Amino acid sequence: MFFDLDHTLWDYDVNTSEAILEVYAYFDMAKWSFFTFEQFVTVFHEVNNFLWDRFNHGKLDRLTLRNERFKMILTRLGVQAHEIPVGIGEKYLELAPIKAKVIPYTLEILEYLKPNYNIHIISNGFDDVQASKLLASKIHHYFDKIVTSDSSKFRKPQKEIFEHAMTLTGASLADAIMIGDNLDTDISGAQNARMDHIFFNPKKLVHHLKVTYEINSLQQIMNIL
Ligand SMILES: [Mg+2]
Repeated sequence: MFFDLDHTLWDYDVNTSEAILEVYAYFDMAKWSFFTFEQFVTVFHEVNNFLWDRFNHGKLDRLTLRNERFKMILTRLGVQAHEIPVGIGEKYLELAPIKAKVIPYTLEILEYLKPNYNIHIISNGFDDVQASKLLASKIHHYFDKIVTSDSSKFRKPQKEIFEHAMTLTGASLADAIMIGDNLDTDISGAQNARMDHIFFNPKKLVHHLKVTYEINSLQQIMNIL
């Protein structure tokens, strides 16, 4: 069983919003009265999603993603280039991966699956960051192999990252299943690799892809497996 991590098990929205609040306080950003904390969070997610989309499709590298993120966010909010705090990107990367909140039913479902399945991660994230998130949220011990865009050199939706994961784990395609929240990477990727998949769709987004299974709560995995 291959799980995506961000937004599927690790509660990315809550955890990153907490880290963003700490970054906002650390750099005393309330001094900029021309935007609110809420606007900072909104623009963070807009820019972050945009950059991750580009990364997922091979149009951006890791370093650019990390270096450009807060420059783009603060510029969009009206902060002058020379006023952007030095070290803000690093501070965020220090704080976010140690946040521990998981999506509801994460622990229950991992406990349920553990006796009968080998469980692994396939993530487009980075080795160090994803390892921190797994440790902080105390779910690291459920997973055998952690396949990332770092370690595989490929990114979902490329089929090669799934093939790499199967070689690494000795899994066969007929027995493997991918679970993830992102149609564009997890589900399209599993389809590219001809792997069965479960689309985790907690927001009940409307879509037109033909998926193997679809759930809106992790608890529903128990109805499938
Ligand atoms: Mg995800």
